[in-house]
Amino acid sequence: MTSSTAPTPALHPATLAAHGGSSVADPYRDLAPPLHLSTTFERAADGSYPGGRVYSRDQSPAYDGVEQLLAELEGGSQALLFASGMAAASAVLQALRPGDRVLAPQSLYWAWRNWLHEFCAHWGITLVEYANTDLAELEHQLNAAPTQLLWIETPANPTWEITDIAAAAALAKAAGARTVVDSTVATPVFTRPLELGADIVLHSATKALNGHSDVVAGALICARQDDFWQRIRRARSLGGAVLGPFEAWLLQRGLRTLFVRVRAAAANADQLAHFLASHPAVRAVRYPGLANDPGHAVARKQMHGGFGAMLSLQLTGGAEHAKAVAGRLRLFRQATSLGAVESLVEHRASVEGVGTRVPDDLLRVSVGIEAVEDLLADWAQALAE
Ligand SMILES: *Cc1c(COP(=O)(O)O)cnc(C)c1O
Repeated sequence: MTSSTAPTPALHPATLAAHGGSSVADPYRDLAPPLHLSTTFERAADGSYPGGRVYSRDQSPAYDGVEQLLAELEGGSQALLFASGMAAASAVLQALRPGDRVLAPQSLYWAWRNWLHEFCAHWGITLVEYANTDLAELEHQLNAAPTQLLWIETPANPTWEITDIAAAAALAKAAGARTVVDSTVATPVFTRPLELGADIVLHSATKALNGHSDVVAGALICARQDDFWQRIRRARSLGGAVLGPFEAWLLQRGLRTLFVRVRAAAANADQLAHFLASHPAVRAVRYPGLANDPGHAVARKQMHGGFGAMLSLQLTGGAEHAKAVAGRLRLFRQATSLGAVESLVEHRASVEGVGTRVPDDLLRVSVGIEAVEDLLADWAQALAE
């Protein structure tokens, strides 16, 4: 037998996800992972820990399979789960030091933009904004003063601007800055930022990774386990923004269908974007999959197999028209969040409130996996009046 020396073919990410990062173990050989709830673990007579665990604040066995799977899906060295996407993002900032400088895009998930500004002001970190798609400005800012961190969100909420990850990460690297990519909207199904030169990937696992609107969770995945990553680890284990074991278990279950869900939703989004783009009541559609979208060329380069399930549209009738249309939709529920199996719509400026940069005639749409005919029919009736 020569099988032991034959190279094992690398499995596709979709295969790894379907198996959910769980390993079949004795005594029951159960295919679904067990749910580990224990907060503490027994020592042996000599004081050692035969199970390799001490305390569950950041050593929960419930994390093992999910973190392993997320690291594999992103092509990274290690993944860490957090209590939310915001907790994961905050841990990155907690690894910085007073006096550090951060570049962040103008268009950015609203809650994070607010907290980022507040955090940096309180902790003596300089925060400079750049236009999401302007690489020349980014290069200028990176070289204007020593910079420790470049934050990227692509596609970016809620206009889905596309930042060229490879180009931006190369500029950051040349300037000695680390690159973090919030890849919540792209998902590892369509984009693998670490392969494009990013150092850390962030996910709000609340969104497409879990996909069923029933878990709040976050994750970070690193390219390498350097000092900066160790500081992030400490921010989790001692800061304590940890995920509960049941939420980790639900997320592991959600991940098993990640590829079919996300591909189906993106295919629906593509059809809906084209339908809306040719509708007379619609002034503009923002979706990176449309050939005339400003981000299309870069999206084609860094998104593979689809352009995500998020789109936005602006109505010819202005803000009141937009709100009325949102109210007339039946399948698209008026609710915030994104990336789940059911379709959602929201009047984004109302959600963000005072200080928002979002045009008030804009509706943000998260497309689900329903039959596309039903989704198109819902928009047709809502726009007809
Ligand atoms: C929702 C979201 C977050 C925050 O994640 P939570 O899980 O809600 O804390 C961060 N970034 C993006 C792009 C998001 O959509």
